Amino acid sequence: MTKIVNHWIGGKTAEGASGTYGPVTNPATGEVTTKVAFASVEEVDAAVAAAKEAFRTWGQSSLAQRTSILFKFRALLDAHRDEIAELITAEHGKVHSDALGEVARGLEIVDLACGINVQLKGELSTQVASRVDVASIRQPLGVVAGITPFNFPAMVPMWMFPLAIACGNTFVLKPSEKDPSASVRLAELLAEAGLPEGVFNVVHGDKVAVDRLLEHPDVKAVSFVGSTPIARYIHTTASANGKRVQALGGAKNHMLVLPDADLDAAADAAVSAAYGSAGERCMAISAVVAVGAIGDELVEKIRERAEKIKIGPGDDPTSEMGPLITATHRDKVASYVAGAADEGAEVVLDGTGHTVDGYENGHWIGISLLDKVPTTAKAYQDEIFGPVLCVLRAETYEEALDLVNASPFGNGTAIFTRDGGAARRFQLEVEAGMVGVNVPIPVPVGYHSFGGWKDSLFGDHHIYGNDGTHFYTRGKVVTTRWPDPADAPSGVDLGFPRNH
Ligand code: NAD
Repeated sequence: MTKIVNHWIGGKTAEGASGTYGPVTNPATGEVTTKVAFASVEEVDAAVAAAKEAFRTWGQSSLAQRTSILFKFRALLDAHRDEIAELITAEHGKVHSDALGEVARGLEIVDLACGINVQLKGELSTQVASRVDVASIRQPLGVVAGITPFNFPAMVPMWMFPLAIACGNTFVLKPSEKDPSASVRLAELLAEAGLPEGVFNVVHGDKVAVDRLLEHPDVKAVSFVGSTPIARYIHTTASANGKRVQALGGAKNHMLVLPDADLDAAADAAVSAAYGSAGERCMAISAVVAVGAIGDELVEKIRERAEKIKIGPGDDPTSEMGPLITATHRDKVASYVAGAADEGAEVVLDGTGHTVDGYENGHWIGISLLDKVPTTAKAYQDEIFGPVLCVLRAETYEEALDLVNASPFGNGTAIFTRDGGAARRFQLEVEAGMVGVNVPIPVPVGYHSFGGWKDSLFGDHHIYGNDGTHFYTRGKVVTTRWPDPADAPSGVDLGFPRNH
């Protein structure tokens, strides 16, 4: 029997009333296992209304109450890591260990939210003028929305809602319709932890649900993570509707390898970062820039490692790489490899047409490695979001840096070198939001913020860390004077207030 995934509104399951459902497929088998309810405008309105009602008390709740619920949620999340990872693998396809890693990185943000009392400490200046004190405090916004992509169905929602609710907001999540189960499980665990009804809501669906959140007058802020064209649309539309917006987009992450680098370590890192999660990570390395004369040796080291990757279903513990999310996406990824030679690249490994015995209908593609890729090739210019690594060649550090900085994307980047001076220059000169030095996927820890530059992020705030707290609160400054009864009356003074 096909499983049904429903909305979560006001602390309980809300069956889809619109009558519209979307299919959820197990990417390893190609089988439709689940149907997910798609919300109508009225259902989104019901979720926002539940969140608005809940904000009346949650927004006033004590920090002690909020953090005690978050600590309980953290314990439940920790206890259910495996179960959530299984849900992810069944709908996304990534291997179990990778799914566990995503839950662990989400949990880091819950850790941060458990300590929100420290982050929300205000500032106080006493005696700024005679008997006058000034306090800066931050308060929640109200109902905030999160719209998330398929590739991290648990982690990316957790980049948002733990901090949002810890700050006193209530939340409406619109997860990806391709792998919706993990978000509902998170809602159940939040309820079990004692989160009051309506503080966290989930509506599933497509553009209809998203567009309603973007225009709803009671939604005060929107956090989005997804592809660049949709991120741009979300930023423009939600901003035009007067909302605070952070919209994180796609990427083409470059890894520079300087001639003095440890080439074995660089090859290990390139293979792990390019093909992990079948390349469906916004922080995947998709372009290696080999600097100087090391190119041939580096490509050979990458090839010999990449060839050994074991591809198979994510619930098989021997699999290192799973299938792609849909057959359509797999075919699109394959088209970049098929066209690469005509565009001037050397095809070192061609993963198209890969099959896995016993899983003939899975969305499989093997490992592809393209060398000497011209910057004009579509395989270089587009975010492929699959297991395709492009290697480019540059004569000098400066040439390599110009190449990275010419990219419209600026999410993550990495440099591999033993030269501290070169690494330091790169940190300062590269146009990207996250930089790794001998670290290929520099996803910041929870207490530092995550975000890209250029077409990888629209808006002023990175996600989580201090930026997250700032995004989910607004400032208020209170100036107080308590006159001493012995003071002489101040009298009327129409001049602009001055401190003395
Ligand atoms: P996507 O942009 O297709 O979808 C993201 C969300 O937007 C989903 O919830 C989807 O339902 C919704 N959506 C899709 N089309 C829409 C439309 N026309 N109008 C309104 N809403 C719409 O992204 P995806 O394919 O789910 O995820 C992969 C993309 O996400 C990649 O580009 C990847 O780089 C990016 N990503 C970025 C980051 C980051 O931190 N920068 C992290 C993870 C993923």
